[in-house]
Amino acid sequence: MKNYSIWLDGMEESNIKVLNEDKDVDVIIIGGGITGLSVAYNLFDSNLKVCLVERNLVGHGVSSRTTGKLTYLQELIYSKLNKNFNTDKVRLYLNSQKDAIKIVKDIVDKYKIDCDLKRVDSYIYTNIEKEVKNIENEKDLLDFFGIDVFESKTLPNNKKCKKAIYVKDTYVFHPLKYIYGLKKIVENKIDIYEKTCINKVEKENNYYICKTDKYKIKAKKVVFATHYPYFLIPYLFPLKCYLEKSYITAFKLNKTYNFSAITSSKPVESIRYHNNYEIYLSNSHNLCVKNDDKNNFKKVIDKIDIKPDFIWSNKDIITSDNIPYIGTIDENMYISTGYNTWGMTNSAIGGKIIGDLILSNKNKYIKLFSPNRSLNIFKIMNFPLNISSNIKSFVGSKINKNKSWYKNVKFKKIDGKEVGIYIDENKKEHIVYNKCPHLKCGLTFNEVEKTWDCCCHGSRFDIDGNCIEGPSNYSITYKK
Ligand SMILES: Cc1cc2nc3c(=O)[nH]c(=O)nc-3n(C[C@H](O)[C@H](O)[C@H](O)COP(=O)(O)OP(=O)(O)OC[C@H]3O[C@@H](n4cnc5c(N)ncnc54)[C@H](O)[C@@H]3O)c2cc1C
Repeated sequence: MKNYSIWLDGMEESNIKVLNEDKDVDVIIIGGGITGLSVAYNLFDSNLKVCLVERNLVGHGVSSRTTGKLTYLQELIYSKLNKNFNTDKVRLYLNSQKDAIKIVKDIVDKYKIDCDLKRVDSYIYTNIEKEVKNIENEKDLLDFFGIDVFESKTLPNNKKCKKAIYVKDTYVFHPLKYIYGLKKIVENKIDIYEKTCINKVEKENNYYICKTDKYKIKAKKVVFATHYPYFLIPYLFPLKCYLEKSYITAFKLNKTYNFSAITSSKPVESIRYHNNYEIYLSNSHNLCVKNDDKNNFKKVIDKIDIKPDFIWSNKDIITSDNIPYIGTIDENMYISTGYNTWGMTNSAIGGKIIGDLILSNKNKYIKLFSPNRSLNIFKIMNFPLNISSNIKSFVGSKINKNKSWYKNVKFKKIDGKEVGIYIDENKKEHIVYNKCPHLKCGLTFNEVEKTWDCCCHGSRFDIDGNCIEGPSNYSITYKK
């Protein structure tokens, strides 16, 4: 069993350039996931001097661990939005997702990107009687918007359910092959630096100075495509969102199917097929709770009743009003994040919106996704909830290391500093500081993926303390 995502299997990256001098550009894109590359795609043909900087390797963040569905049927999103927004806004969100699918399809066709893009029917289903009405309501809403929605009580893999609805004009793809395809299109005109982390962004007159450990990039405009924004003040993102974590398996079947499916209610179960593999996701939860990863993975494996070939976890940002934060956050500073687990479509829209803002083009979605939009009072009431779940996980991480979970992990103090020690299969000790550099939460050890994970805001570190996922920008490597 491989403890990493199926999309990373056999995907070697070549042509890696690391920043080795100071630079002066018009636009810097920080982050090389599907968002960063989508923004780059919308700027590569302009006259602007653009560079993209990625802390690790392009595409190896959250985007490499997704399920890779391109669909506008996103659980019961339209019913949810209909409670908080008027019908025009709900329709606008629907149109944005349909446009996003077209954007991706057009790019794949135009540049002949070999990313296994396949048209499949996309299902929402439930096995819970009281959810049936909710699915019917979602269908009514989609009917009202003129979408062709079909009904069923069986999924195409012959699994029975209480109720399912589906649409036919949606896709699945190999997300990493798509991202590499975008990289290939833009890299002739845009400098892409990998293994290069931006630690600080400071305003100086009309410029931003973006600093790595050694070098500076002076830029007129900055795009944050870092997934979780690593800055806190003054934009208050941690109050306006939380992180949801899920567990994913891929296992071989002797046949494949042309559909993708997701349950209508949380914790979601999600299915899609890639070649002869079924990719099955379940057990999603707020990152701040349920930190026993071994048990979390076990629950997923128990459900599939077969030994998986791949197993991995992933997390995404859920916003207070279920609409992503895409647009201008400050003068000449932009962000695209908060995709509510639908980043394959929303990154395409994010790339287009930010490209249009930078190039002063009109875009009908700017207002809907604006990160500075005001939230209604009920959504603001979520703020204390988000703070309290963060405080709870912060305190929990300090007072309870749940030692009983672990077989090969020890915690102790060395020279007054908390460390965590993982003992590998050759009995070698790997020592790290047990404190997340972001906001000083204690870290739990994820025994399945062999990473140190922060249950407050999701930073992750490998067994030797190298930071592999933010919001932390720093490692926790122990130095004697
Ligand atoms: C379990 C799960 C399943 C999902 N399935 C689907 C799906 O089927 N369909 C769908 O539409 N969406 C899906 N999503 C959502 C989607 O995967 C994400 O929303 C999307 O991949 C986010 O892309 P990103 O580019 O914003 O983030 P990332 O891919 O994480 O990219 C951000 C990049 O920024 C880099 N970075 C961060 N800080 C710095 C720094 N300081 N300097 C330089 N670089 C930095 C990181 O290293 C990273 O590579 C799923 C999400 C989850 C959790």
